[in-house]
Amino acid sequence: MTDPGRLWDDCTGSLRQRMGEAAWKAWFYGVRPAAGDADSITLAVPAALIQERIETSFLPLITEELSSARGSPMVVRLVVDTDASFGEQDEEDVAPRPEARAPGRPSSIAGPDRPMAEGLNPAYTFSGFVTGSSNRFAEAAARAVADTPGSAYNPLFIYGGSGLGKTHLLHAIGNYVHAHFPQRRVLYVPTETFLNQFIHSIQTKAQPDLKRRYRDCDVLLVDDVDLLEGKEAFQEEFLYTLNDHFQNSTQIVLSADRAPKKFLTTDDRLRSRLLAGITTAIEPPELETRLAILGKKAESSAISIPPEVLEFIAVNVRDNIRELEGALTRVTAFATLNQEPLTLFLAEKLLADVVASNLPRQVTLEMILTATGELFGFTVDELRSPSRRRPLVTARQVGMYVCRQLTDHSYPTIAREFGGRDHTTVIHAVSKITGLMAERRQIYDQVVELMRRLQSGE
Ligand code: ADP
Ligand code: MG
Repeated sequence: MTDPGRLWDDCTGSLRQRMGEAAWKAWFYGVRPAAGDADSITLAVPAALIQERIETSFLPLITEELSSARGSPMVVRLVVDTDASFGEQDEEDVAPRPEARAPGRPSSIAGPDRPMAEGLNPAYTFSGFVTGSSNRFAEAAARAVADTPGSAYNPLFIYGGSGLGKTHLLHAIGNYVHAHFPQRRVLYVPTETFLNQFIHSIQTKAQPDLKRRYRDCDVLLVDDVDLLEGKEAFQEEFLYTLNDHFQNSTQIVLSADRAPKKFLTTDDRLRSRLLAGITTAIEPPELETRLAILGKKAESSAISIPPEVLEFIAVNVRDNIRELEGALTRVTAFATLNQEPLTLFLAEKLLADVVASNLPRQVTLEMILTATGELFGFTVDELRSPSRRRPLVTARQVGMYVCRQLTDHSYPTIAREFGGRDHTTVIHAVSKITGLMAERRQIYDQVVELMRRLQSGE
């Protein structure tokens, strides 16, 4: 049995799973088994750049999978094959797009293997979203869109500072539509992913596939579009994508850190498109809303949290809900670990640095990777590598958690910094470490120590 095609097919499922869907799509689209014998396989890749990336980041993983599928050690080689037909092989399997597709009609165009909802984080729902005067209008608009996708406000543009709930609302719309209109295709995409896929599609001549991917959906949620600023070529591409959607009455929801009139100045058509729907701001939450958010999070906590502790946190952590949650996690985890009642005194002690950090140090992702490596005894390259050895995985997850705590970077940006992983890996790491902090003292200490070192500049 030396059929390289079959061997490769046998492994693609687990490879996809292990490296994450985004990495798979970014680097393995168009990779084909070209030749093979009992102990080696040659994979043809569409471009030198892709060969390089696969060799540096994924070769050990591929070798391991293929060897275990074959049951004996395999040598994996890569060759560049610039055959222009790469990336177009799916073209024929796909029916042409009908001119007008009634919204809500099931779309079989993209093939049965495409899920109806992509990129959604099920944890972000409307019921988990606390409203107050700072976000009430944004939430109402998001609900209206989720109830009647494509007909209420289109596009809906949500903007506001970091950590105020924009991403949460985008996912909430997606989750709601997916639950209530299961036949509608929902796609959530961070702008960064859109940009990377776009670059990659040019390299692999797979633009038609990418275009189809974005156009064959009923609800398109694009997060952090401010990243398009200054990237005219992408703005152009983005505009075409939006235009197509308007013709098909697809619902579009966009988020950014500022109002559309403050960026995208170079393309007036794009800007007027963005302004044609409804624009809504999320402001930093006032004290009452901060308290309500903490109260909601406290409900799911295993220990009881006295109101004065919640108030202490709400008063002191003001303009970022992610930090608000981080502070709560820290005190509840400590109290749980020590089986100690959570008192105001304890909270004040534990959060002394949070309260004092009115002038936060600028911590970069690079710095976090370096400090994580030092703390756990790994190199930065190891943290970025595909290896999934236990202690390394933990170090990586702690590092990712701290990135979320100390920087404003998005999940995809953090994922890329950690060796081009899928952003869902970071989402998973953050929830995993949040839970483990209350269960394992060592993890709690490592997180706190890492944050302390980074904030004190040691
Ligand atoms: P942004 O995308 O604006 O930077 P996120 O949506 O990532 O912010 O929100 C940061 C964190 O705060 C998330 O964990 C989110 O669930 C939480 N959050 C934000 N707004 C609210 C809210 N109104 N109610 C409950 N949780 C919220
Ligand atoms: Mg966000």
